Amino acid sequence: MSEPLALAGLPWPVELRTHPRARRMRLALDESRGLLRLTVPRRVSRRAALDWAAQQSEWVEAQLARIEPARPLASGATIPIDGEDVLLQWDDAAPRTPQLVDRVLSCGGPADRFADRIARWLREEARRRLVEETRALVAKSGIADGPVSVGDAGTRWGSCSASGAIRYNWRLLLAPPHVRAYVVAHEVAHRVHLNHGPGFHALQAKLYGRDVGDARLELRALGPRLKRVGRG
Ligand SMILES: [Zn+2]
Repeated sequence: MSEPLALAGLPWPVELRTHPRARRMRLALDESRGLLRLTVPRRVSRRAALDWAAQQSEWVEAQLARIEPARPLASGATIPIDGEDVLLQWDDAAPRTPQLVDRVLSCGGPADRFADRIARWLREEARRRLVEETRALVAKSGIADGPVSVGDAGTRWGSCSASGAIRYNWRLLLAPPHVRAYVVAHEVAHRVHLNHGPGFHALQAKLYGRDVGDARLELRALGPRLKRVGRG
């Protein structure tokens, strides 16, 4: 058994174990630990096993979807924003533009387009805040500024291009602020180091203000739930 490994494209880290009697490779979800257990016959190399596991992302997502119920953006439903429950409410008398007041996110307009209006608002609010939070960190640290956008890239929370363009998953709006701050610190650190080497890790911790380990684990545990918001 080895230290769990994060593989690109998989939402949970992989714990690899060689099994003398295993006939073929097998992947299983360990829900309580937030891990994927990869069982490997002795004759299969570690490299081949990890390559195989990295290709199972669709299967993994489908399994996680079965564990985590879909949370459609319906009136009466609650979703997290900043890690706290917010009630979604359609209100005939309210304006069409959603408003967040006292942990109620409400809007009016045609009821059958309620989910669309809320989804648009969430994405725009995520963009606004992530731009703001990224700018604030960049200004404080003296790191070069650059474009920031949001999307809904499958399993990634953020990415940074060689030119310094940062793209976040809008679902970070749903996560507690200290978890979002970790992803912001991670991507801003990539503006200086386009790798995950020791220099990168030191800068990431400096930008975050402390070790990011706890926030990373929290995001990993929360991830499947956040990814179900707005689906179904
Ligand atoms: Zn990275």
